[in-house]
Amino acid sequence: MSDIINILPDSVANQIAAGEVVDRPASAVKELLENSMDAGATQIDLILKDAGRTLVQVIDNGCGMSDSDARLCFERHATSKIHRADDLFAIRTMGFRGEALASIAAIAQVELRTRLHDAELGTAIVIEGSRIASQQPQACPPGTSLAVKNLFFNVPARRNFLKKDSVELSHIEEVFRRITLVHCDLGFTLQHNGKLLYDLKPGSMLQRIAQLYGNFYKERFFPIEEETDLVRIKGFVGKPEYARKTRGEQYLFVNGRFIKHPALSAAVERAYDDLLPDRSHPSYFIALQVDPSRIDINIHPNKTEVRFVDDHALFAILRSAAKKALGQFTLATELSFDTPPEFNIPPAPKGYVPQQPRISYNPDYNPFHATPSQTRMKLDDLKNLTAPTDLNETPTSDLRPPASPHACLQLQSRYIITTLSSGLAVIDQQRALERILFDRLTPRPDLRAPTSQTLLFPVNCQFSAADAELMAELLPDLCDYGFALEAVGQTTFVATATPPDVKEADLQPFFEQMLADYKASTLQRHADRSQSLCASLARQMAVRASTALSQEEMQQLVADLFACPMADTTPGGKRIITIVNPEELLK
Ligand code: ADP
Ligand code: MG
Repeated sequence: MSDIINILPDSVANQIAAGEVVDRPASAVKELLENSMDAGATQIDLILKDAGRTLVQVIDNGCGMSDSDARLCFERHATSKIHRADDLFAIRTMGFRGEALASIAAIAQVELRTRLHDAELGTAIVIEGSRIASQQPQACPPGTSLAVKNLFFNVPARRNFLKKDSVELSHIEEVFRRITLVHCDLGFTLQHNGKLLYDLKPGSMLQRIAQLYGNFYKERFFPIEEETDLVRIKGFVGKPEYARKTRGEQYLFVNGRFIKHPALSAAVERAYDDLLPDRSHPSYFIALQVDPSRIDINIHPNKTEVRFVDDHALFAILRSAAKKALGQFTLATELSFDTPPEFNIPPAPKGYVPQQPRISYNPDYNPFHATPSQTRMKLDDLKNLTAPTDLNETPTSDLRPPASPHACLQLQSRYIITTLSSGLAVIDQQRALERILFDRLTPRPDLRAPTSQTLLFPVNCQFSAADAELMAELLPDLCDYGFALEAVGQTTFVATATPPDVKEADLQPFFEQMLADYKASTLQRHADRSQSLCASLARQMAVRASTALSQEEMQQLVADLFACPMADTTPGGKRIITIVNPEELLK
């Protein structure tokens, strides 16, 4: 019998471990930015090529490293941040596990230049797949520059898993926001393929939000602030009117670290209780400071999951702080709890004698004599209808369109009720519109020019640098759909025409929601780009166009719907029509 167990060489072990720490360029970016902050840098510059695939470089003015530390930092478990296990309960730095640089060096070509502030010369080191290729003294500015080149050059499987550049870049930008939002006292820049995307100056959190998302964002938030023995809370909660259907900017930080904590997020959402329509989500940027001994961040290598000792208390404090923030600014201006409501009845003119109200009625009216009315159907009509169908299952074949325009009823500006050969059809108006608009928008080879309306006044829309890039990418598609849109400057777009169903006043939120939808669908690798864009546009136009309709408008909508090849579901697969069969009605 021969022995079969080996101890893996460090380079292999590091490569395996690297999978946990660095799975895409964005995670390398996170580790390097965190190291620079831990080194006490006040200015940190991030330089990318090809969404980080070819180059991720971070340059800082932090403390720098000595010659031997520069070599040592690439060893596994090499860290200057903790010495004993006890230190794990008093962590004030972003890193502490000493594995990021070892992992990165195992799967990339790394060039480090670093100099201590009081040293005359610095050190330059080149490492490739965990092996030091060269080390020499070098003149360089104080601080550290770490360049990660050709990530995964020796792990083709990982490299092949990378998504296209726009997706990888959006992951990096998310990492960048998660760090820069809460470290607003530091300066950051982000350069991609030679283009400066962000130049963030030190300032307040609100200024940082404005720098990242555009100046117009400032008006969308209320400040939240609270201090107790357990926690200090500071940040901004979104005004209810800016809530979105998709979870937008929801950022929670603890001790300078972005975290995901479903219970605390729920605490914030609960504060909005009745202020928001169903299924919309508020935006918020909230930074918590707690005693490091009351929190465990060492649950997962990427440290976004944390555990709090006092989670119940924190939940209550956060919810009430958020409620207070919303209450102080919304309710106070609209309602006053202290004074009873007043009825605004103007004083009666002198000599005015009040009259008893009179009601007129028809004494001959008999409700059991049927009156012909547009909206009332006779029972006989229903009996003559064809086979009943199950309420819950609506086979498409039963959706025969009405032969001639049938009377329609509108319910709550939301449903249209009409008759079909198979029964009473309840049509979800908004979804029907979504289907119609989707079919209308989808570019057809036989129709060259899309329909579009010229705006009386051009409308300016502003975006964050990241969103502006995406807008530029989507511009040709948007023009295909009937928008006339042009970029002016770095982050502003001017619309001069839109498809007929878009209202100009809504353009900014319209595009924002479209970008949010689009990002969500590309990140999930949904359908193709034009389809998902088209579906998002149609959905939004439909939401905005759902109002009370006249009889003719309803009939037109029903006719338009049945002209669509897939009248029964929305582009997103939601059911549009429910049939109530005659049996059901007879009961
Ligand atoms: P950790 O951050 O968990 O300590 P890393 O592998 O990220 O582990 O870094 C290892 C060590 O290298 C750090 O503890 C720190 O001493 C040093 N180091 C890394 N990056 C920098 C930097 N930008 N400036 C100064 N020192 C650094
Ligand atoms: Mg680190």
